Amino acid sequence: MINRKKIIAGNWKMNKTQAEARALVEDLIREIGKFDEAEIVLCPPFTALSAVSELLSPVPNIRLGAQNMHEAASGAYTGEISATMLRELYVRYVIIGHSERRQYFHEDNATVNRKTKAALAAELRPIVCVGETLPERESDKWKSVLETQLREGLAGFGDKELADIIIAYEPVWAIGTGKTATPAQAEETHQWIRKVLATHFSAAVAERIRIQYGGSVKTENAKELLSMPDIDGALVGGASLDARGFTAIIKNACLK
Ligand code: PEP
Repeated sequence: MINRKKIIAGNWKMNKTQAEARALVEDLIREIGKFDEAEIVLCPPFTALSAVSELLSPVPNIRLGAQNMHEAASGAYTGEISATMLRELYVRYVIIGHSERRQYFHEDNATVNRKTKAALAAELRPIVCVGETLPERESDKWKSVLETQLREGLAGFGDKELADIIIAYEPVWAIGTGKTATPAQAEETHQWIRKVLATHFSAAVAERIRIQYGGSVKTENAKELLSMPDIDGALVGGASLDARGFTAIIKNACLK
């Protein structure tokens, strides 16, 4: 069986001023220490990237991510940020197609595809989010919804591109709601995602790709979720805003 290193990312969303971000990162650096059993990624808001980047520059085991980017290299896109601008701040990862971007900013699978392409071209590692709504889960449409999100979001890519992508499975009904998919439900869905990927790409790359779970992950449920064979990490929202809680998720869930 292939050994996929777990990846835990903290999505701070629209939280933390620069001063608050610095305080959180200082605490995290102290709490996490040299732990490197998992890849750890912090995704602050754009305005705190520079401050967090400076603090993380001497810290090899914690990487920097962004929550979004624009697909164009530059130009008249008021309010937007390009991949090159992120690279300049030593950002390594970027979340693409988070359900909040899909819901509030009308991003669709085609947008996700263009942004993912631009991120890869700039050598950023995209964390591509997919997930179904509650009615889609309850009416058993989740398989076709995820299949479409993956097929359209990753259209035109081959094994080489997929190898640099991380998928985050985030059931929309579990984000910020306190509801979590059961470990069995999440595992079944991750297996389905891997199976879909194996039909569009090679079986080998589908086996290697890391699939994170996201949706109300916290200290109490992280270990059980991340002990499932196809759950390769977590994308953590609310619980990543607290240094102790986020560190506990990382250490409890990823210590062998
Ligand atoms: C997220 O923002 O990706 C997320 C999963 O949020 P929460 O952990 O708060 O549900």
